[in-house]
Amino acid sequence: MSETGHSFQQKITSGDLGIYVGGKFVVGEGTSLSLVNPATEKEIGQLTSASAAQVNDVVDVARRAFIETEWSTDKELRASTLRTMADLVAEHADAIAYLDSIEAGKLVTDMLDGDVPDVVANLRFFADLVGRDEGRFLDERSGWGWVRGIPVGVVGGVLPWNFPIAMLCWKVAPALAAGNALVLKPSEDSTLSALLFAELATQAGLPDGILNVVAGDGPGTGSALGLHPDVDMLTFTGSGEVGRMFLEYSARSNLKKVSLELGGRAAYIVDGEHTVHLDTVAQDAVGAAFGVSGQNCTASSRLVFVGSDEDFQRFRAAVQDAAAGITVGDPMSPVTGMGPVINKEAHQRIIEWIDEAAGSGATLWQSPQELPEVGYYIAPTILENVPVEAQLGTGEIFGPVTQIIRAATREDAVRLVNDEPYGLASTVWCEDIGQAKWWADQIRVGTLAVNGYSEGTVATPFGGLRQSGFWGRDNGPEALAGYQEQMTVWISG
Ligand code: NAD
Repeated sequence: MSETGHSFQQKITSGDLGIYVGGKFVVGEGTSLSLVNPATEKEIGQLTSASAAQVNDVVDVARRAFIETEWSTDKELRASTLRTMADLVAEHADAIAYLDSIEAGKLVTDMLDGDVPDVVANLRFFADLVGRDEGRFLDERSGWGWVRGIPVGVVGGVLPWNFPIAMLCWKVAPALAAGNALVLKPSEDSTLSALLFAELATQAGLPDGILNVVAGDGPGTGSALGLHPDVDMLTFTGSGEVGRMFLEYSARSNLKKVSLELGGRAAYIVDGEHTVHLDTVAQDAVGAAFGVSGQNCTASSRLVFVGSDEDFQRFRAAVQDAAAGITVGDPMSPVTGMGPVINKEAHQRIIEWIDEAAGSGATLWQSPQELPEVGYYIAPTILENVPVEAQLGTGEIFGPVTQIIRAATREDAVRLVNDEPYGLASTVWCEDIGQAKWWADQIRVGTLAVNGYSEGTVATPFGGLRQSGFWGRDNGPEALAGYQEQMTVWISG
């Protein structure tokens, strides 16, 4: 257990300090939120969310900070503050890991090996980009001038719970690097690490009011941000259903820019003819399917095999063996490979979807290990022959469930990806370079991983095609551009 993380949680919940505005914690005046640990089903504490009036006040503070501080104009300040923030996040890795674990059931090992280093890398990457973002100079017969990216202004961020600190930073680092002020609403299922992050940002020298956090639920606090007439841009990661609401909120308010990173139904395609070690592939595919308990927008929820009968049987057996080897349990334990799902509702829904698919003819396999008696745990689950009419046939399960699908041809496998409304990510395993190029030319998704599950790096843009996203990207220079408007200055001459 992290002492710093625990005492931060005590400070926030005992003082009911769910709002961070202008460099200070404030008590909310909206509805009450119960923070529940999904591994124990016990309440950690309660927080009062921001009321609509408080959201107005916080947006005012952000607007004033954007106008009155040097943040939007001083690139050196931005670069050096982002670097110090990276150092402070690295120093507080244990505390952040602890907070995301007790609220969202994240594995502490995943947090320390993955999420927190990703945040640090992100802050450093965008600190480096600040100085290189020079714009363009033009000199022509009609005159001369320049084009440069300027900050959008006040950016609202509405966030999910599956990677609380990482998804926060995928928004915050480029938005701050571009010179904006922010008001963040973390998910009601994972609020604490966002509040700690905001406090660390102040310690790093971020001017008061540039990064603010409001605790709250979606319909109350989230919609207040989405509908706010003085928020210039809304950046969102979450479900498609809620993402669409932000487009409506924008149309009904001030036509704020909206960037949406939404769900997925990633495929993991194995080209059997060009794959030698099916056991290695099965290990990787199982990690891609059941990591973060399958609650990942790029989770491989469909394992698609193209190849001979014999290889298919071998692959299926290897996948089941690899899944049976996952230790499900306490997210704080270093030996755990998979923790709980986020909450009671998700637990019930996932089980209902599995039962429905199995009841309508799918073959069900579940890892035989014992699950803890308390906590929202589900065993790694693999289904075959899921009818398209079942919810699992077209929906995003967002849980530790994958399907094995045998595709008759490579073209059929491609269609399984491209004909989906989702187009976020997929993986292909194919050890022949020419054939791998063929796959890459055929498949249309935001990120295609080849010969190993991956979401790319901090330098590669991440976002979805089709209904997996709307405008904008996280990561890479493309993310920075997404938090800027392009302005032309033309001097007649
Ligand atoms: P969600 O859409 O339920 O919630 C996301 C956020 O929206 C939360 O902060 C929530 O409070 C808020 N919200 C909910 N209802 C709202 C409303 N009526 N008005 C305004 N705000 C509202 O999603 P979730 O359950 O937190 O996350 C799971 C989803 O996120 C999955 O679909 C997953 O694929 C997606 N996701 C996508 C990416 C990506 O980068 N593409 C990354 C992580 C998660």
